[in-house]
Amino acid sequence: MSERTRFAPAPTGPLHVGGARTALFSWLVARASGGRFVLRLEDTDPARVVPGADAALIADLRWLGLDWDEGPDVGGPHAPYRQSERASEHEAVWRRLREAGLVYPCYCTPEELEAAREAERAQGRAPRYPGTCRNLTAADRARFEAEGRRPAWRFAVRPGERVVFDDAVHGSMEFSTDGIADFVIVRSDGRPTYDLACVADDTAMGITFVVRGDDHLANTARQILLLDALGAPRPRYAHLPLVTAPGGEPLSKSKGGAAIGELRTAGYVPSAVVEYVASLGWKVPDGLQVRGPHDLLRAFRIEAVSPSPSTHDPERLRALNAKHLRRLDDAAFFAFASSFLGPVPEGVDREALLAAVREEAETGADITRLADRIVVRPQRLVALKDPVLESALGALERSGEPWDPDDAVARMKAELKHRGVPVKDGLHALRAALIGTPDGPPVALLLKALGPSEAEARIRRAALTRPGSSGDSGVPQDSAGQMEA
Ligand code: GLU
Repeated sequence: MSERTRFAPAPTGPLHVGGARTALFSWLVARASGGRFVLRLEDTDPARVVPGADAALIADLRWLGLDWDEGPDVGGPHAPYRQSERASEHEAVWRRLREAGLVYPCYCTPEELEAAREAERAQGRAPRYPGTCRNLTAADRARFEAEGRRPAWRFAVRPGERVVFDDAVHGSMEFSTDGIADFVIVRSDGRPTYDLACVADDTAMGITFVVRGDDHLANTARQILLLDALGAPRPRYAHLPLVTAPGGEPLSKSKGGAAIGELRTAGYVPSAVVEYVASLGWKVPDGLQVRGPHDLLRAFRIEAVSPSPSTHDPERLRALNAKHLRRLDDAAFFAFASSFLGPVPEGVDREALLAAVREEAETGADITRLADRIVVRPQRLVALKDPVLESALGALERSGEPWDPDDAVARMKAELKHRGVPVKDGLHALRAALIGTPDGPPVALLLKALGPSEAEARIRRAALTRPGSSGDSGVPQDSAGQMEA
C-alpha cells in the first residue's frame, strides 16, 4: 500500500539527531511504499516558536538529503502546510464536534484547575481534570459568560472503553478511557490544542501512517478518540523510542553537539549523519554503503525498529564520519575539505596541505585544526644535529627545478644513510623542525605543502637552537627538542 506520511516539527529550536531520525524513518516509510512525504510545520504556539527555526529545519532536512512532495516551501494540494495558517480547518472540525454534542465549554480558571488537581492528589489519585464543567446547566453557563469568563472546550471522554491500536514498533497498545480525562481541544483564547490541530490536519492531508516519538503515545490515545468521533480513518502508527543525550537528559537540553546544524558546521558529512541517525534503534545492514537516504530504502523496515531507547554517542558518530571521509574520492574530498581551509599564506600549496591532513582528519573541524598546525610556524624549536641538518639542506638545494618534494625526500634519505643517521630518526627530527612534532604527515607532503623556501627557513630556524649556536638560545625546548638524533 502506498503510504502518505508526514514530518510535523514544531519550529521551536534546532533539529537534533532524534528529530532527524523521525523525519528519516517517516520519509523511508513513504518512499519505500511509493507513497508521498509531507512536511508540516506545527507552529500554533506563538510563545514557543523561534524566529528562523523553520528555515533552519528545512535547510537541515535538505542537507540530510530528504525531500518532500508537499510542504510550506513547495506547496501542494493540501496547502497551507503551516499549522498556524489552517485556523479555519481547525475551526470546522471543532464545529462538527460541537454540533455532535461531543465537546463542552469549560469555564474553570487556572487557579480552579490547580485546586481541583490538588484535591485529587490529596485523595491519592493521579491529578486530572475531574469533569467539573461537564454537566453545567444553561443558567450556569450564562452566569459564567456574564462574569466575562471565556471557556476552553473539552472533549467528553466516555468512561469504561478501550482504545486499542497496533503500533509498528511497540506492538499492540491498549489504553482504558478511564485513565483519560476530558481533554481540551480549544483553549480559552480560541487557539486549537495540538491534539485537535494534529487530527484535523492529518485527516485533511490524508495521512495514512504517523511516525513520531513515543512521548506522543498518550496523545495518540486521545487523537484516536477524536478520529473515531469524527468518523475519520485512523492512520497506522509507529512510535519511535526516545534518543537521549549521553548523560540521560533530553537531547534538546544537551550541549553534546547533537544538533544537525552544529554537525554540519563542525564538518560532518551528510551521508555519515544519515547512517548514524538510521542506526539509532535500527540495524543498518553490514557492508551497506550509505551515500544518502536512498541507500536505506531496500533494507529498511519500520517493524524492525527496536522499542528500547537509544543513547546519542558522539564518539561513534565521529568514527563513522571518519569512515565516510576516507571513502570520498580525491575530487570529493578536496571539494569538501576546501571549505574548512581558510586563506593560506603565499607559497603554501592548498592541495598538498589538504593531502597532508587527510589521513588524520575525522571531521572538517579537524581539517582546519590540522592544517593550522602545519601552516603556523611551530612555537617550539627543535635542535637538529649537524648530519640531519646538512642532509636536509643539501637535498633541498639539489632537488632543483621544478621543485620535487619526493625527490628531495629520496635525497634526504640517501644522505642520512650516507652520514650514518638512522633514516627514521632523521625524518622524525625533520618533521619536528617543520611542524613541531616528530609524528605527523609524511615529510614529502609537508615539504610540498609548505614549499621549498618556507621548509628551508623552518629547518634553518630549528638549526639555530643547536647547543652552542648563536641566537634563539632563549627559546623553550620541549620533548621534541630532546629527540635530537
Ligand atoms: N509537533 C509535534 C512534535 O514536534 C508533532 C508530533 C506529531 O508528529 O504528531 O513533537
